Amino acid sequence: MSTEAVGLLADLASKTERCIRCGFCLDACPTFRLTGQETLSPRGRIYLVKSWREGTISLDHNVQHALDSCLGCRACETACPSGVEYGTILEMARTEMERAKIRPPLEAFARKQLLNVLTSPGLLSASLRAGKWMGGLTGGRMPALAARLLSGTSAPAPRLPVAHNQSGTASPPERSPATGPKRFTVAILEGCVMRVLFTDTNRATIRVLQANGCDVIAPRNAQCCGALHVHAGLHEDALQRMRALIDSFSPYFNEIDAIVINSAGCGSTLREYGELLKDDNIYSGRARLLSSKIRDICEWLEEIGPAAMSGEVNMTVSYHDACHLAHGQRIREQPRTLLQRIPGLTLVEMDEADTCCGSAGTYNITEPVLAAQLLKRKIAHIQETGANTIVTGNPGCLAWIEQGLEEQGLKVRICHPVELLDAAYKRDNLEETL
Ligand code: SF4
Ligand code: SF4
Repeated sequence: MSTEAVGLLADLASKTERCIRCGFCLDACPTFRLTGQETLSPRGRIYLVKSWREGTISLDHNVQHALDSCLGCRACETACPSGVEYGTILEMARTEMERAKIRPPLEAFARKQLLNVLTSPGLLSASLRAGKWMGGLTGGRMPALAARLLSGTSAPAPRLPVAHNQSGTASPPERSPATGPKRFTVAILEGCVMRVLFTDTNRATIRVLQANGCDVIAPRNAQCCGALHVHAGLHEDALQRMRALIDSFSPYFNEIDAIVINSAGCGSTLREYGELLKDDNIYSGRARLLSSKIRDICEWLEEIGPAAMSGEVNMTVSYHDACHLAHGQRIREQPRTLLQRIPGLTLVEMDEADTCCGSAGTYNITEPVLAAQLLKRKIAHIQETGANTIVTGNPGCLAWIEQGLEEQGLKVRICHPVELLDAAYKRDNLEETL
């Protein structure tokens, strides 16, 4: 066993020992609420991992099922009074599980390829084009065989996501100057999924930052941040991506005040670079520096004091908390405050706004049954609000909830908060903007 693996196991043991088994996290856990099973709760999962670490149970398919069925939403962390770092425990346990290679080789291969496609913009674009072409055969869904291989069930395959790139897919310029007096210089991350599926959101992010006096840098060679890989336990692949991303941001470190992120999942992982690379002699310093500069777009705008908006957005809007913003980064108020600053906008709260929608990275593909139940619950809560627009800050939630709304035939739109801010700053007719 490598020194790193031994260290990881020791860390894992000490982190699981913090759980006092009080059960305060149970009601917060979506998979426990759906199933009522202790092994599908945070407390149960921690206990399984601890028992496996202590050698009282083996790493078998029950442990695998408990870990696979976890959304990684970290709602349990928010609820836990003992400060148990559940997200880290999950990532460490999944890393050990993948290293132990207990999955059938074909399934392991398919899971890895899925992540590679999602995080490679060229491959993702090509897959979406092929999916569109095959749409007549599959009803716009992922091919059934691939879905079955990934999930091990015959549940309906998820639909392929729709790309939101009305203004084209070309990357933005490396530098976009502030409109009006310059206040800050920031870098953005185009991302992998965001760059392909939500090009319009990335453009809106840049315009909103410019309108707030920010010179915006989009580093040329920045690729995937590794979030999906780290959540899946593909630790080495994740570290490779993290190092490459640090290299692409390093030339700008001296001139930027912040790295502004519009994807909750990416932001959450980027904040953890310092910890994840702490033993890397070459990258640890820059990893810590990068993490210290990370701001979610709503967090950043509230921090600098947003410029006044003169356009009106006469809409009733409800906000869905992306898990990796609310639970992963503890950002709840800033998006709501910003939305309420938009002239004309009415914000209404939805029940269980911070409960996972079931998207959770690739969860809706690998665990389609539980994911579909969570989506149904989310759509029902959306309907109860009477809002005509849902707003959320993560690409997975945007695509998955959009699918749920369409399947229910609801005339409710979903978008990222920056798209409403952009409309207000541009003083556009909203219908022309979204
Ligand atoms: S994870 Fe926290 S809330 Fe849940 S049982 Fe353990 S100590 Fe209690
Ligand atoms: S991360 Fe989410 S699904 Fe997993 S145990 Fe915690 S609350 Fe439950």
